[in-house]
Amino acid sequence: MDHDRPAPNQAKTLDEPQPTIPKGFDRRNFLRLSGLAGLGLLSGPGKARAGERPGKAAPSAGPGQYDCVIVGSGINSLVAAAVLAKAGWRVCVLERNDRLGGCIRTEELTLPGFKHDVFSSWHPLFVTSPAYAELKDALHANGLEFANNDYPTAVLLPDGRRLILKRSRQENIQSMNAAAAGDGDSYQRNLAELEKSASLTFGLLGKDLWSYGFTRMMCSQAYDMGMHEFMSYFGESFQTARGWLEENFKSDLCHALMAPWVLHTGLGPDSALSGFMDRLIFFTLEVAGMPVVKGGSEGLLKAFVKYIESRNGRFVVKADVDKILTQGKKAVGVRTVDGQTYLAAKAVLCSVTPGQLYQRLLSPELIPAEVKSQAGQYRFGKGGMQIHLALDQPPRWPDPELGKVAMVHLTPGLNGVSMAGNQAENGLLPAEGTIVVGQPTALDPSRAPQGKAILWLQLQELPSEGGLKGDARGEIAAPADGKWTQEIAEKYADRIIDRLAGQIPNLKESILARKVLSPADLARANINLVGGDPYSGACSLDQFFFWRPLRATKNHSTPLEGLYHIGASTHPGPGLGGVSGLLAAKELLD
Ligand SMILES: Cc1cc2nc3c(=O)[nH]c(=O)nc-3n(C[C@H](O)[C@H](O)[C@H](O)COP(=O)(O)OP(=O)(O)OC[C@H]3O[C@@H](n4cnc5c(N)ncnc54)[C@H](O)[C@@H]3O)c2cc1C
Repeated sequence: MDHDRPAPNQAKTLDEPQPTIPKGFDRRNFLRLSGLAGLGLLSGPGKARAGERPGKAAPSAGPGQYDCVIVGSGINSLVAAAVLAKAGWRVCVLERNDRLGGCIRTEELTLPGFKHDVFSSWHPLFVTSPAYAELKDALHANGLEFANNDYPTAVLLPDGRRLILKRSRQENIQSMNAAAAGDGDSYQRNLAELEKSASLTFGLLGKDLWSYGFTRMMCSQAYDMGMHEFMSYFGESFQTARGWLEENFKSDLCHALMAPWVLHTGLGPDSALSGFMDRLIFFTLEVAGMPVVKGGSEGLLKAFVKYIESRNGRFVVKADVDKILTQGKKAVGVRTVDGQTYLAAKAVLCSVTPGQLYQRLLSPELIPAEVKSQAGQYRFGKGGMQIHLALDQPPRWPDPELGKVAMVHLTPGLNGVSMAGNQAENGLLPAEGTIVVGQPTALDPSRAPQGKAILWLQLQELPSEGGLKGDARGEIAAPADGKWTQEIAEKYADRIIDRLAGQIPNLKESILARKVLSPADLARANINLVGGDPYSGACSLDQFFFWRPLRATKNHSTPLEGLYHIGASTHPGPGLGGVSGLLAAKELLD
């Protein structure tokens, strides 16, 4: 993909994922409600510059040229830009990197013909989000195609036992009941309860929480459910995954299937709220599967760019915004490090961390003391690593059905996930971290030359950049400054490959090339992934819902008129749902 200008999209056929809907469930209502998790002074007119990506009908920069300027080009910015452009607003998206997309990037990272999603790859959150419901026609008309199957996830234990989740509730009930009598029935009961409270659950994750509409919804839910049941809903939601799993499932295999998924929400199995996230994720995986974009996630980016440009939107890369321009207490545009200005008649949206917004982009005198201090205290989570493999042949799993699964977790089980997270929190390379094995070619063979395959491996339990203190196995020496080096990353990747090869006999001989990205690489690639935290901020309860990004701010507003804060650091948190971008855009259009 050309860094400055993605090639025109080749794909023409439309291929929406077709979720299997639990009986009696209203998909349209689900899509409407969902959204998981998963957001100076004028210095004169700007002018064209080297990194510009003018669209067909893109206006040139200048005072009052845009209705809205958006800082950053990740999923939330793209959603906001598309929704505003659809409503006729002139939008300009500014990206500091030399390419658009943030965590959405596809590259032939290893060898020609092997198309790796460098960062994010899996789209259950997007296809169930209200942003997709709003934009899907426009995106599919501009070339977006998904590939999906009926095998979203599985777990494989060190002793070879495994459990596969399918998109059929009945089959899942059966396989869990086979793991331990009653576990499948308990699974059914738990998901049925979630369906019953779907409007409350998806309201929490798909709406602005500081709003009259949300308060009204809460009151009517409390009335309908009765106060006691309503409060119990919250008590239960705050439960840890460990508590929920141990209470409801006897089999360690069921525990091991579900526990690793909380890592994908930035939590651990002993974190408050992780039980709720587990239930929500399994519900979503059954409904939506694990769709990937045909040909690579860049297909999603290209569809957005094509649509937004067709609506007179404009994209500029290598545009590092370092100042929000203000008049009094109102944001009126931005300035980039090389002195260009982009003026916004109606709004400025920033997809940045709280630290960047309140400590870099805004002049200190404009920020209330409470906001300033909370932005300084905003916490980031553990580091993440990606290992990309180009394989000469598909992996030969102990059970061939595992070869069809989108995402397999290798873990010793619930305690193993807990232990690895704890070791990482304490600065240690885990002895036996959870291995997330994504198999994009199982869904979309076009990602690799015929007969070959790729693997997307993710490690989410690692010390962050600067916080590396040692190795739980005592084998890999940590540097005095706590910083990741390529040598350490490669040694840790060797540990992971060795464990994987213990389960996949043909793995080592099949590896044609590999690319390892450490937490330091993630942080370098995207300024919002501070310390290599893939989720742009810890997702603990105190930094979620009403309190994300900060306790002192509400929804996506900021202390400045016309300035909105979106992106993974804001409500409803990380993931490809694009909900913060949608909510901010909707507020502007209301
Ligand atoms: C390795 C990895 C794998 C993941 N896998 C998945 C997955 O499979 N499915 C899923 O749902 N989620 C996944 N996630 C999470 C998800 O990708 C992110 O939470 C989400 O994409 C973040 O989107 P965003 O809108 O916050 O912007 P980001 O994607 O973070 O992009 C923000 C952009 O803003 C730019 N920017 C920041 N500051 C400035 C500035 N001052 N001036 C100009 N530009 C600026 C940055 O350069 C960046 O390009 C993954 C994340 C990572 C890191």
